[in-house]
Amino acid sequence: MEKREELYRGKAKSVYKTDDADRLILLFRNDTSAFDGKRIEQLDRKGMVNNKFNAFIMQKLEAAGIPTQFDKLLADNEVLVKKLDMIPVECVVRNYAAGSLVKRLGVEEGMKLNPYTFELFLKDDAKGDPFINESHVVAFGWGTAEQLVRMKELSLKVNDVLTKLFDDAGLLLVDFKLEFGVFSDGSIVLGDEFSPDGCRLWDKDTKKKMDKDRFRQGLGDVIEAYEEVAKRLGVPL
Ligand code: ADP
Ligand code: UDP
Repeated sequence: MEKREELYRGKAKSVYKTDDADRLILLFRNDTSAFDGKRIEQLDRKGMVNNKFNAFIMQKLEAAGIPTQFDKLLADNEVLVKKLDMIPVECVVRNYAAGSLVKRLGVEEGMKLNPYTFELFLKDDAKGDPFINESHVVAFGWGTAEQLVRMKELSLKVNDVLTKLFDDAGLLLVDFKLEFGVFSDGSIVLGDEFSPDGCRLWDKDTKKKMDKDRFRQGLGDVIEAYEEVAKRLGVPL
C-alpha cells in the first residue's frame, strides 16, 4: 500500500490518498480541539491512543455485523480505511443527559434518558455544527431518506453493542457521535473514528469523566484517562 498526497487536513486527523482508489490512510495527530476548533492543543500520545482505540472498537462493531471503514492498522498513528463519500451529518445517540442537551433543555447532567435519544447535527464548524432534523437532511440534499433510516438503524445498533462493551469495563456510555459515508458499492458505512474524543464515558461507580470533557473543562489528565479506558477494555497500546 503506497501513501500518496494529503487530501484533507482536519482538526485531529489528516487524510491521505493511496494507490488504491477505494482506500485512504487516516493519520491520527496529537492535536486536540474543542469548541468547533476555537481551542487546539497538542496532547502527547493522543494520536496513537485514539488510533488504536478506534481500531479496537471498529473491529468489535464489524464483528457485530456493523459495516465499518476499518481495513488494517498500518502504524501507531495510521490506519488504512475504505474511502467513503462522507455524509456531512453527525449522528448523536445519548443514554444520559450531558453537554449541549443539558444547555439546550436545562435538564440535569446525568439524567437517565429512557429510551435513548437520537439527534442530528450538520457537520459545519463555521456554523457551529447546528442542530438539525431529518427533513433538513433530505431537503438540503445532505442525504436521502433511505440513507437516514440506515444511519439511525446502525447508530442504535452501535449503541447496543458499545453500551454492553463499556458496561463490562465499569463505564457508562453517556453519549457519542458517529459519522457515516457512502462506499463505492453504494452501501452506508461507519467512518471517521470512535474514541474518547467523540463520546462521553463515566466511571460507573464514581462518575469520573474519562473522555474529552476532561480537556473541554480543564480537568487535567486527559490522555491518562483515555489510557485507563483502553486498559479496562483490553485495547493493546
Ligand atoms: P474534522 O474534519 O472534524 O476537523 P478530522 O480531523 O477528524 O475532523 O478529519 C478527518 C476528516 O476525514 C473528517 O472530515 C471526516 O469526515 C473525514 N473522513 C473520516 N473517515 C473517512 C473515510 N473513511 N473516507 C473519507 N473521509 C473520511
Ligand atoms: N461530539 C463530537 N464532535 C462534535 C460534536 C459532538 O464528537 O463536533 C460528541 C461529543 O464528544 C459528545 C456527543 O458528540 O460525546 C454529544 O455532544 P454534544 O451535542 O453534547 O456537544 P458538546 O457539548 O460536546 O459540544
